[in-house]
Amino acid sequence: MDTVQANTLGVYRVVALALQKRAKLLQASTSEIYGDPLEHPQPETYHGNVNHLGVRGCYEEGKRIAETIFSIHHQTYGLRLQIARIFNTYGPGMRENDGRVIPEFIYAALRNQPLTVYVGSQTRSFCYVDDLIKGLIRLQRVPKYIDPVNIGNPKEISMLQLARRVIQMTNSKSRIRILPSQTDDPRQRKPDVRKASHFLKWSPDTNFDLGLRRTIDDFRNRFTAES
Ligand code: UDP
Repeated sequence: MDTVQANTLGVYRVVALALQKRAKLLQASTSEIYGDPLEHPQPETYHGNVNHLGVRGCYEEGKRIAETIFSIHHQTYGLRLQIARIFNTYGPGMRENDGRVIPEFIYAALRNQPLTVYVGSQTRSFCYVDDLIKGLIRLQRVPKYIDPVNIGNPKEISMLQLARRVIQMTNSKSRIRILPSQTDDPRQRKPDVRKASHFLKWSPDTNFDLGLRRTIDDFRNRFTAES
């Protein structure tokens, strides 16, 4: 309910304030609005495959209705708006325990603890944080609303490949523990970034191994002392 409220009542309040102050709004939306996508890669025109009653429904459906609320206010009241659909992002500074896969894997690997992989064949496409920020800044500077834009890196990797890569790059003795699928876990995800390339003249350019190396180094610096 917190997630639903933030994405409805919270969004509505942000909209009211932005209209009152004539402020420009950038919605940090998400690839989760595509759910478990049946179209691959996902262009902005794809309407998604979301189980609104499932365990991820509060977030997936929440972010969808948030996009709706923002865009209605753009159409009706001229709210100054851009919507970024942010795909999986990673980089230095992530919390070690936020549950997302890259920090989970690095933190476990640095301790030689098992890496838990749910299934393993599912894919994600990870964007380095600096690339994402550059994309968001460019989007914010576009003077006219251009409907939602995907911001992400189209380079796709399976979760099993990712686990192996992290173990290799950390010289870890960790083993991989495979567990069954989590409910409604999307099986594939990869952004179509042609719209961002066209309108923002933007594309991600940080190589995945380089970004992962920086993230691993950051985790080493922050968490080795306490281990
Ligand atoms: N995942 C995993 N082990 C973990 C954490 C996540 O195998 O310790 C998987 C998860 O099931 C999902 C993928 O990694 O398929 C990405 O999960 P994350 O929470 O980072 O992002 P999202 O699912 O929101 O894209």
